[in-house]
Amino acid sequence: MKHDETLREMIQDSSSIVFFGGAGVSTESGIPDFRSQDGLYNQQYPYPPETMLSHSFFISRTQEFFSFYKAKMLYLGANPNEAHKALAELEKRGKLNAVITQNIDGLHQKAGGKNVLELHGSVHRNYCMSCRRFYGVEFIIESKGVPLCECGGVIKPDVVLYEEGLDEKIIRRSVKAITGADMLIVGGTSLNVYPAAGLLRYYQGSKLVLINKSVTPLDSLADLVIHESIGRTLSDAC
Ligand code: ZN
Repeated sequence: MKHDETLREMIQDSSSIVFFGGAGVSTESGIPDFRSQDGLYNQQYPYPPETMLSHSFFISRTQEFFSFYKAKMLYLGANPNEAHKALAELEKRGKLNAVITQNIDGLHQKAGGKNVLELHGSVHRNYCMSCRRFYGVEFIIESKGVPLCECGGVIKPDVVLYEEGLDEKIIRRSVKAITGADMLIVGGTSLNVYPAAGLLRYYQGSKLVLINKSVTPLDSLADLVIHESIGRTLSDAC
């Protein structure tokens, strides 16, 4: 039996699917995975992205942070791909309970997704570090240099930087969603990034599907492994 057919049957038999996705879901919308070392950043910037996207760098070199962030982390012209659309459609049909994502681009919501748990935050939310007022991403783009609140405080993107912890509430909701899932589809992640592998341990069912172009350390634990495009695979199976 072809993989796509197996996947389609698994989805048909499920009513509380959870999807867990990584950077590979967004690369098919043209958003590069900054963790893949292609030398691009090293040519243009004096530090690796892990440094420029760290909390200490944000605090100590805020202007340089925003210069990098605006140039390399904001892809507002990007559109949802087949993966985002298929998952939103499954949610609308009442078969999918939650999308847990490591991406910060908001593309699941742009595709119509409702219950999206953003482990690493979202570029679309930004808040004043002094008065907590929220700002949209347009405000960041239009600001020259460091974006400042009308109160004078520095506005910080609501994304989890290196050295920062994840939102405990989002973690708890993710654990709950995965624990209650009758099918868990994991896609577009090498499962090397914290806390991906740890979260998957909460899944108790017998339909763990991994969709990733390359091999992951958890392939042997999965009930179905598909090494193909996440967008094509999901649109064919849904
Ligand atoms: Zn303020």
